[in-house]
Amino acid sequence: MLTFALSKGRILDDTRPLLRAAGIDVTEEAEHSRKLILATERADVRVLLVRASDVPTYVQHGGADLGIAGKDVLIEGDSTGLYEPLDLGIAKCRLMVAVPEATDYDALMRRGRRLRVATKYMDTARAHFAGKGVHIDLIKLYGSMELAPLVGMTDAIVDIVSSGATLKANHLKAVEKIADISARLIVNQAALKTKREAIMPIIESFARSVGAQR
Ligand code: ATP
Ligand code: MG
Repeated sequence: MLTFALSKGRILDDTRPLLRAAGIDVTEEAEHSRKLILATERADVRVLLVRASDVPTYVQHGGADLGIAGKDVLIEGDSTGLYEPLDLGIAKCRLMVAVPEATDYDALMRRGRRLRVATKYMDTARAHFAGKGVHIDLIKLYGSMELAPLVGMTDAIVDIVSSGATLKANHLKAVEKIADISARLIVNQAALKTKREAIMPIIESFARSVGAQR
């Protein structure tokens, strides 16, 4: 049995054509079901539905053999035991620093006071500002990061941006790119050895789908 970890929402939506091409589309109404384990068209492959940020954890610890996770989640976490064979080129966005529209970011950086930053990407944000020699106070949030500067809680946020519409609606502007983000196929390194015959054709099918897209 092969177990594939996915998250509902954008990743599952964007991945379904790739799953279908590999002959492992989920046979149930995944979006509406409360089930956490879904059968696929193949009796020997099942899909786990977990939180986006939990996908690498399941694959790392052998709860799943393969998974699909955003690069944002992967760079934030520890990737021990994970093999990342493929950039799927879907769920593309950028990890950015954003500040209120009226903020002079360069002046803010020069001011010498510690910058207050809200994010759910604590390690990535810490590394980014450390690399620039900027001292920061980090505040951990789990969502709706845009709110923090609006209520004066922080000077900046670190979050993923795609169209920029959410920033705009909240009178924020992106000022610095930390990384380009897209969804990646990840594989448990031990499973790749013990279940190689089953896993390689799936990686190859995904690679063909990604190639055909481009
Ligand atoms: P939750 O919404 O359950 O709190 P989440 O925000 O991490 O968790 P999703 O919104 O499904 O979950 O995002 C999953 C992944 O999809 C992200 O880690 C990111 O890589 C990508 N992603 C999220 N939003 C966008 C977007 N607007 N455009 C492109 N990619 C996105
Ligand atoms: Mg989300």
